[in-house]
Amino acid sequence: MSMLRFKMVEDAIQRKALDVPAPKERPSDFFGKYVFDDEKMRKYLPTQTYKALRHTMIDGTPLQRSVADSIAAGMKQWAMDMGATHYTHWFQPLTGGTAEKHDAFVEKDGRGGVIEEFSGKLLIQQEPDASSFPSGGIRNTFEARGYSAWDPTSPAFIVDTTLCIPTIFIAYTGEALDYKVPLLRSLEAVDQAATDICHYFDPQVNRVFSYLGWEQEYFLVDEGLWAARPDLMLTGRTLMGHESAKNQQLEDHYFGAIPTRVMAFMKDLEYECWKLGIPVKTRHNEVAPNQFELAPVYEETNLANDHNLLLMSILKKVSRRHSFRVLLHEKPFKGINGSGKHNNWSLGTDTGVNLLSPGKTPKDNLQFVTFLVNVMMAVYKHNGLLKASISSATNAHRLGANEAPPAIISIFLGSQISDVLDKIEHSGGNDPLVFGDKCGLKMEGLPHIPELLIDNTDRNRTSPFAFTGNRFEFRAVGSSENCAGAMTVLNTAVADQLRTFKSDLEARLAKGETFETALFALLGEYIKTCKAIHFDGNGYTEEWKEEAKRRGLDCVNSVPELFDQYLAPSNVEMFARTGVLSEKELHARAEVKWETYTKKIQIEARVLGDLALNHVLPVASRYESLLLDKLFKIKSLFSGDKSEQLSSQDVALVEKLSEHMTTIRELTAQLVEARKQANRITDERTKAIAYHDTVAALFDPIRYHIDKLEMIVDNEMWPLPKYRELLFIR
Ligand code: ADP
Ligand code: MG
Repeated sequence: MSMLRFKMVEDAIQRKALDVPAPKERPSDFFGKYVFDDEKMRKYLPTQTYKALRHTMIDGTPLQRSVADSIAAGMKQWAMDMGATHYTHWFQPLTGGTAEKHDAFVEKDGRGGVIEEFSGKLLIQQEPDASSFPSGGIRNTFEARGYSAWDPTSPAFIVDTTLCIPTIFIAYTGEALDYKVPLLRSLEAVDQAATDICHYFDPQVNRVFSYLGWEQEYFLVDEGLWAARPDLMLTGRTLMGHESAKNQQLEDHYFGAIPTRVMAFMKDLEYECWKLGIPVKTRHNEVAPNQFELAPVYEETNLANDHNLLLMSILKKVSRRHSFRVLLHEKPFKGINGSGKHNNWSLGTDTGVNLLSPGKTPKDNLQFVTFLVNVMMAVYKHNGLLKASISSATNAHRLGANEAPPAIISIFLGSQISDVLDKIEHSGGNDPLVFGDKCGLKMEGLPHIPELLIDNTDRNRTSPFAFTGNRFEFRAVGSSENCAGAMTVLNTAVADQLRTFKSDLEARLAKGETFETALFALLGEYIKTCKAIHFDGNGYTEEWKEEAKRRGLDCVNSVPELFDQYLAPSNVEMFARTGVLSEKELHARAEVKWETYTKKIQIEARVLGDLALNHVLPVASRYESLLLDKLFKIKSLFSGDKSEQLSSQDVALVEKLSEHMTTIRELTAQLVEARKQANRITDERTKAIAYHDTVAALFDPIRYHIDKLEMIVDNEMWPLPKYRELLFIR
C-alpha cells in the first residue's frame, strides 16, 4: 500500500510540463471564435432577423416564433460550419455548476437517412427530464416538469462539438428552479430603480447595468496523488492530514514565479477561455502553496456569471490534460488559506458613467455619493441575507477563520471616503452645499473631492465588502459558488433601497425643499442610520466580533441557521416588492440549501468514517504490532534494567498509539450514531441543524487523533499522500 504512495509521488515528480505550442495568431485574432457573437449573427442571420434579435437582446422585446426559426437556422449553420454535431440547453440548476443534455442535430428524413435539423422551437424551449434536479418541493406539489428556455442576452457558444445555448430553468408553473432566473430579475430591478435615480442627475440615461468582475482562486494537485486521496476525490477537501512543516509562513508563493508545469497549464487555459470569449486577463500565484488565481476584465453581470461557470468547467477539463486536478473547494487544506471568488461589483449607465466611481465634476461626485450611500444602506439592512447568500457547507470552513473574510458582513471605505461621508453627515441642515454656476454643484468644504477620491489606495484585506476606488469588492463569495446567488441578493437589495430613497426624496421635495437640501439631508440621515455597517478596522480580531454584536450586525455562525434569512419577513418583502423571488420560491430555495448542506456533511461523514476504519486504523494497528513484536523480542533476550531501558520508549509509543486508536474508534462510532439519529428527522431545516451540531462537530476531534497517528506511524506505511506531497509537488 505504501509502495503505491511512493510510486505516485515519484510519478508526480517525474511529470514534465506539457509542451503546448503557442498559438500562431494573436489573442485578438481568435478571441470569441467559438461564440455566436455579433459578428457571426450579422453573417449568418437575415438582416430582419438580426435586427429583431438585437432588439430582444437590448430591451427584452419577446421573440416571434418565425424569428426564432430563422435564428435557429442561422445558428445551426454556423455551428455546423464549426464542426458541431450536437446542441444542448446549458442551464444552472440549484445543485451549483451547470447542467447539459446533448442532442444530435440529426432527424430522420423519411427515406431511411437523416438530415441535420434544429428548429426555433428547440432553440427557444426544451423540457429536460428535470425530476432529478433539486426544486425544494416545487415540482412535487405541482408537476414534475421543468422547462429550459433560451436567454438571448447571453450568446450561444461551442464546446468541443456541441452548440451550447444558455438557458433559464423554470417549473411548469413558472417558478424559478435555477440561479439565472432570479439573477436576471434582479438585474432588471436594479436597472429600473437606478435609472430612475440617475434621472435626477442626467435625464439622458436610459439603462443602468450591473457589472461583475470575479477573481477565481483555485488549487492544483497532481492527478496521481489526488487519486490516492479518497477524501479529495469524493468531497473536494482533505478530511485529514497533518500540516506540512513548511506551509505559507515564508510568504514565498504569493506573486512568486509560476512553476513551468503550471505555466503550461495556464497558457492552455487562457487559450481555451479566449476562444470562448472569456476575457481573462490576470494570472498569478496565490498565498498558499499550489494555489493560483485568475481574473477577467469585468463584464455585464449575467454574462460575467455565465463566463465564470464556463471557466470552472474549462478549468476542470484543462487541468486533466496536464495531469492536474483542480480543487475549487473553499478549504481543501487545513492550516493554509482557502479559496474565494471576490466579486467586484459596480453599476454603470448606458451613457458610460460608472456610478461607483468618483467623477470629474462635483455633480458627478454627488451622484457617486448618492449611489455609494444607498449601497451602504442596502448592505446594512440585509447584511444577514448577504451572508446567507454566500454560506454553504464548504465555504463555512473559510469564513470566520483567520483569513479573509470574517463571518460578519461590514463595509470598508478607506479614510478619504470616510471623511467625505463625515462631512456630509455633519453638515446637517445648515445647507453649506450650494449650486455653483454652470459647472454644477459645488460642495463647500469639500473642494478637493475629485482629486482626493481618485487615489483611493487604502487596502484592507480583512474586510468582506470593501470599496476599492471604483467598485465594491464582495470577498466572502466562495470559490466553488455560482456568483449569481450573491449577485442576486446584492442587486435586489440595492434596487429596493434605491426605490425607498426615491420615495423619501420625493416626500421631501413635495414639502417644498430644494433638491440639494433634500438630497444632503437625506444622505446625512442615511449615513447615520447605517453607521453600524461601516468598519475600517481589522476584521479578524476578537474585539471586532464583540463590537459587531453590539452594533446589531448579524453574527450567526451556523450555516443552516443562516438560511433562515431567506424567510425573514423583511427579506421576503424585499424580494416580493422587487419581483425577484416569490415567497414560494424562497421557501423552495431555503429547502434546497438545507438539503444540500445535509448531503454534503453526510458524504463527508461517511468518507471520514471509511478512511478512519479502513485506511488509518489498520495501518496504525500494523505499526503497533511491529512495535509489540520488537518489545517481545527485547523481553525474551534481555531482562531487568536492561530490558526496561531498551523497551521504555516503545512501550510509551504503543500506549500513545492505542490511546489515539481507541479514541478514533469511539468517536467514529459516535459519528455513525449521530448520523443515524439525524437521518430520522424529516424536516429539512431541523435535519440540517442536527447535521451541523452533532455530525460535523465530530470531524475535527476525529481528525485530531488521525493527524497525531500520521506523525507516529512509520512514514513508509502511511497510505495517504501527505500535505507536503500534495502541496509542493508540481
Ligand atoms: P485585486 O487582486 O487587486 O483585487 P485583480 O486585478 O485581481 O485585482 O481583479 C480585479 C477585478 O475587478 C477584475 O476582475 C476586474 O475586471 C474587476 N473590476 C475592475 N473595475 C471594475 C468595475 N468598475 N466593476 C466591476 N469590476 C471591476
Ligand atoms: Mg480583489
